[in-house]
Amino acid sequence: MDKTSRIFIAGHRGMVGSALVRRLQAGGYTNVLTASRQELDLLDQRAVHEWLQANKPDYLFIAAAKVGGIQANNVYRAEFLYQNLMIEANLIHGAHLAGVQRLMFLGSSCIYPKLAPQPLKEECLLTGPLEPTNEPYAIAKIAGIKLCESYNRQYGRQYVSAMPTNLYGPNDNYDLQSSHVLPALIRKAHEAKRRGDAELVVWGTGTPLREFLYVDDLADACVHLMEIGAEDVLTNIGVGSDVTIRQLAELVCEVVGFPGQLVFDTSKPDGTPRKLMDVSLLASRGWRAKTGLPEGIALAYADFQRRAAAGL
Ligand code: GDP
Repeated sequence: MDKTSRIFIAGHRGMVGSALVRRLQAGGYTNVLTASRQELDLLDQRAVHEWLQANKPDYLFIAAAKVGGIQANNVYRAEFLYQNLMIEANLIHGAHLAGVQRLMFLGSSCIYPKLAPQPLKEECLLTGPLEPTNEPYAIAKIAGIKLCESYNRQYGRQYVSAMPTNLYGPNDNYDLQSSHVLPALIRKAHEAKRRGDAELVVWGTGTPLREFLYVDDLADACVHLMEIGAEDVLTNIGVGSDVTIRQLAELVCEVVGFPGQLVFDTSKPDGTPRKLMDVSLLASRGWRAKTGLPEGIALAYADFQRRAAAGL
């Protein structure tokens, strides 16, 4: 990528897209293209194709998606499958029609089989059944990976996919019904501390293991892979180590300064027991995560407090 390349970030208002815009601007890229939801509805095939034809990006990062935590994925199954299929199909096919040679499609570690050997290697894609709570989302993301791969095989495109582990950081979703675990715990600990509660409710048993990557590290990894011209069909992006949900909750309480007890609501699902990424391919491409979990949680909490103060 040249510093003056036209680089379109689809989904720039979201946590991942906004981190990509920050990273590219900090890296001196001067032609970062974005389109608001009012300007461009990514579910509208014709609008997406016309926008790409009119704006002719050199590079495209697909950070737009319908996303959410375990409950949202499990309840809004139809929307998660339909909207993600439409967004990626419109953008990937539209990019091909508009002559975009390089793009990066962002997914998630939930594309891998529920009981795949850990850490999860890129090769274990499609080797077993998926975790049921987020199967619709995962199916859509697997279709996106295969769409990219198919344009490469049939038309010689360089469309790569990056699968990040669980992400957190600025612009995260803190809505307790639809968020992921880390922002949910930050908010719960903050509010419990303010109210002077004795307890904080954690969903599930607290035993599942999860890996957490600070979103600015993800953006750095994505830009790195594009800068070096990596052509791997699929690259995991993670930190290579994980914690239990109980350990995570304890860490969040420490950062936020909530002194109470944890209680576990086992009427809520645990989801997949573990999803640790194998990051050896990424390491061989010359990248590793920089932000440790305690440091990242402190940064995320500062962002949460800023947004809470602004009434968001
Ligand atoms: P997942 O990684 O796709 O399972 O999605 P989540 O980040 O939503 O959940 C990860 C794990 O954290 C699951 O075992 C949840 O049950 C657990 N968890 C504990 N407390 C919470 C909470 O307040 N919100 C969410 N979303 N998950 C929680």
